[in-house]
Amino acid sequence: MNTRFSSDRRRFLLTAGAVAAAVALPPPLRAQGAGPDVAVIGAGGAGITAAKQLAAAGYRVVVLEARDRIGGRAFTDGSSVGVPWDRGCSWLHSSEVNPWVGYARANGFELVADTYPRRVFDGERPLGQAELTGLHALRERMNAELEAAGRRGLDIPAEEALTLATRQDEWYALAASGLTAWEGIEPSNFSALDSFHYAGRGDDLLIPKGYGNLLAHYARGVEVRLKTPVSRLRWSAGGVSLDTPGGTLSARVAVVAVPSATIAEGALVFSPWLPVDVLEAHHHLPLGLMNKVALRFKRNVFPGEASEVLRQRRAGWRGMSYITRLWGGNVAVGMSAGAFARELEAAGEQAAIDHALGELAGMLGGDVRRHFDRGAATAWASDPFSRGAYSHCLPGRFGARERLTHPVGDRIVFAGEHTEQSAYGTLHGAHLSGLRAARQAAGLLRRA
Ligand SMILES: Cc1cc2nc3c(=O)[nH]c(=O)nc-3n(C[C@H](O)[C@H](O)[C@H](O)COP(=O)(O)OP(=O)(O)OC[C@H]3O[C@@H](n4cnc5c(N)ncnc54)[C@H](O)[C@@H]3O)c2cc1C
Repeated sequence: MNTRFSSDRRRFLLTAGAVAAAVALPPPLRAQGAGPDVAVIGAGGAGITAAKQLAAAGYRVVVLEARDRIGGRAFTDGSSVGVPWDRGCSWLHSSEVNPWVGYARANGFELVADTYPRRVFDGERPLGQAELTGLHALRERMNAELEAAGRRGLDIPAEEALTLATRQDEWYALAASGLTAWEGIEPSNFSALDSFHYAGRGDDLLIPKGYGNLLAHYARGVEVRLKTPVSRLRWSAGGVSLDTPGGTLSARVAVVAVPSATIAEGALVFSPWLPVDVLEAHHHLPLGLMNKVALRFKRNVFPGEASEVLRQRRAGWRGMSYITRLWGGNVAVGMSAGAFARELEAAGEQAAIDHALGELAGMLGGDVRRHFDRGAATAWASDPFSRGAYSHCLPGRFGARERLTHPVGDRIVFAGEHTEQSAYGTLHGAHLSGLRAARQAAGLLRRA
């Protein structure tokens, strides 16, 4: 499984062709009025991409961003634990079709293949070879069963695509945690067909300077108005106008590049209302959850000098995965997902740090606690401008992503990871959606 926890691949999910890093947009036909041609809502990977492409083609673009920073769910934290760590995205997934790979290489960002060894513990005991073979075999079986369901077009919960024997396997909870990490929610809650249409192609890469910093590099020169949340988008045949605390901005076309949940939950409303199927599509693509905990130690408490990925076998779904020795430092980053991540987030940052420390101590022994220095944890679900980590498609709702690739009223274009079927839930998906949205916005402007 191509998960955010493991370097296994969903090699059967080969639906994407080669992708372009940039698009050639038609230039603006003529200047109309004093306002911008395009107002982009949201300065994450999708909004930044759309704005950059449109501005490069000569369109007048303004980006309105609610937070006091750009990047959205792509954000490298350079201060809390002394080494850069990504609070949101960190893996360049599907490296053979991921446009950020070429961008990073062309701009001096080192990329590192995630070939870290994986170790699983039962208490303090690392699993033996026979046990690992059993776990691996189960994962392969799960992949094959999910693929078979996808090929048959079954828009059912992923869990129902698995045989009873698979679900009753002694390693099921551990193996399924990879699926939960990928989708941010347990396999009973996401569509097997949607997951089948993700294009996994190529190894996962990591970026020592940070994936968030890569996006920030790309965003240089894009004009963004920070601390400008848009509460209402009014649209008509004549254009769009956007309500913000600082006043109303008018433009000819809007690119809406905010997380699906912010629209589904009414933080950004539309006047008149969006067509029912468009609003429904946002509801059918809710955001699952992944959270991270970064722990800094005063000395190396890990088994070796090199990084590895550790996981403890836990009852139910309550385990986290840890990358140790992040970029050679005495830092580990742990990841929780799904319902357990929600539970931890609700308990607060200190509870998440305590849980991670306890789990690491359970695997590696008491030194872990003695040499602990400081920690930090993310809380993506309660962040009002994301409301989760990344989108999944509800069972029975396949097609919602595609619905959001169609402009509304010749005035509104949607972008964001949730709209990109072959790369949903990723930063390269956000980028691809931004390229598509820029093309569509330019097309609408030439018609308007
Ligand atoms: C913990 C975690 C781990 C992840 N791991 C990976 C990974 O390893 N690899 C990978 O490729 N992807 C990963 N992802 C997913 C990836 O980060 C996202 O898919 C991607 O960054 C989404 O980009 P976006 O532009 O669609 O949305 P966002 O980045 O969320 O951008 C939307 C922007 O809109 C702004 N906004 C929201 N509401 C308003 C409003 N009303 N007015 C104005 N602005 C508003 C937000 O502040 C935000 O800046 C991870 C995400 C998380 C949270």
